[in-house]
Amino acid sequence: MPTCLHLDRLAYAAVATTPGGCEECLAIGQEWVHLRGCQTCGHVGCCDQSIGRHARGHFQGTRHPVIRSLEGREEWSYCFVDLVEYDPAEDWDREGADLG
Ligand SMILES: [Zn+2]
Ligand SMILES: [Zn+2]
Ligand SMILES: [Zn+2]
Repeated sequence: MPTCLHLDRLAYAAVATTPGGCEECLAIGQEWVHLRGCQTCGHVGCCDQSIGRHARGHFQGTRHPVIRSLEGREEWSYCFVDLVEYDPAEDWDREGADLG
């Protein structure tokens, strides 16, 4: 279990500003592979496998540390500062707390 203060503070707080796709890619008509949502401001960007890499670009421009996967039922988050990934499906402590 990683200890990243960014993830603890920002878990799943933001609402996507452009739910239909990567904000920058939509603006220029470019395609993306996967979508990542900024947990600070709700910016939607594309993953590192995409041409634009706009989720990473958003972090480099704003220093907003945490993104969340917006792909289907995936719920993992990633902190660009600490290089830590967090997936609640693998968080046994939290599941136990919910049951109790
Ligand atoms: Zn962090
Ligand atoms: Zn993009
Ligand atoms: Zn942001």
